[in-house]
Amino acid sequence: MLTAHTKTGLKICLGNYYSKEALLELRKKEEFICPICGENVILKLGNQRIFHFSHKRGSTCHKFFESETMDHMEGKLQLYQWLTRQKIPCCLEYYDKEIKQRPDILFQFNGRKFALEYQCSTISESVFEKRTKTYLENDYIPLWILSSNHLKRNGNNVISLSNFSYLFLRKSSVGDYIPAYCSEKKQFHFIQSLFPYSIKNAFAQYSINPLEKMNINTLLAPSKKWFVLEYATWARAINHFTLKWTLHSHAAKDPFLKEIYSRNLNIFLLPPEIGLPLPHSYYLQTSPVKWQTYLYLDVISRKHPGETITLQEIQFHVNKRMKRNEIVIRKLPQLNEINPMVPVMEYFRELIKLNIFIRTGDTTCQVKRKIIIPTSEQEKKEAHEFFKGIYKSLGII
Ligand SMILES: [Zn+2]
Repeated sequence: MLTAHTKTGLKICLGNYYSKEALLELRKKEEFICPICGENVILKLGNQRIFHFSHKRGSTCHKFFESETMDHMEGKLQLYQWLTRQKIPCCLEYYDKEIKQRPDILFQFNGRKFALEYQCSTISESVFEKRTKTYLENDYIPLWILSSNHLKRNGNNVISLSNFSYLFLRKSSVGDYIPAYCSEKKQFHFIQSLFPYSIKNAFAQYSINPLEKMNINTLLAPSKKWFVLEYATWARAINHFTLKWTLHSHAAKDPFLKEIYSRNLNIFLLPPEIGLPLPHSYYLQTSPVKWQTYLYLDVISRKHPGETITLQEIQFHVNKRMKRNEIVIRKLPQLNEINPMVPVMEYFRELIKLNIFIRTGDTTCQVKRKIIIPTSEQEKKEAHEFFKGIYKSLGII
């Protein structure tokens, strides 16, 4: 930990540029106390590690500090000093007695209170959700920053994100993003424009920004960079994903695969219209291939040209699949409310652009043509080639 009190009640925050000499002097004449538990703590001034306070062996004050890593202390110290340099009122390791929570940094900006948490260790989803909820209910804006060690890039624009990493997704005026920080290199990493193609893997805009070139505004609303996702690249990823899925040892028991075979669909011969990339498909943890296949089975394939599809019936089928956990909403506790119909409606809008439906009202559309299911690898290839052309001409991606 980086803050403690003296016996006389003076607050010592090691984020405030004390020299080693001054601290050695202070240590000679003062005793230091943990602001949370009131126990005596030791001021450590080693050469290898950053200066910090530490509880004595056998201390019971485990909840907040004892599992703290150097990476974590280093990171919050850098972020605290970065905020101070911008003259933003802030407090390191502020303990709110009312809510019994202690954000790494509390700061005030634009008349709002922010609780910054720089997270290096994995915590459970329920602890993350509870802390976020408590902050929100007490007028704090939570600002969770993930340690960049948790991120795994598989190429320029492909990233693996665990459910834990997705918890850090937050809103900004320019779109949703995941902020991460690397204390070793003093860099912020931003993940924006997410297009997941499986539970874990997604295409995304990934940018790295040196701390010294950033200010608080660029952290709260990082500018979006141009990112082109080519249809062919997307289609390859989807193919690869379906192949891996079916090779999985439990594939024979997979209820989804069983269901589609029983409906005469072959996972390897899906048409290009199933598994489209959509701006908000990250609201759903279920892969786009899977949930769009469900929509095809439940609604689209049952209609003939000229027939009407209503929003109400789409909603009904989505709800039914959600109740059975076949379509799962992603846990994104920092967004207000996740409406699964947002990506679903985006999907129907794409199908309208592709001339499969015609919009006939605010909540209705009519089938113009049926989606053609390929019956051979050759037909599938031709469909994809044809589709690539339309997709480009529509300027969708
Ligand atoms: Zn303590």
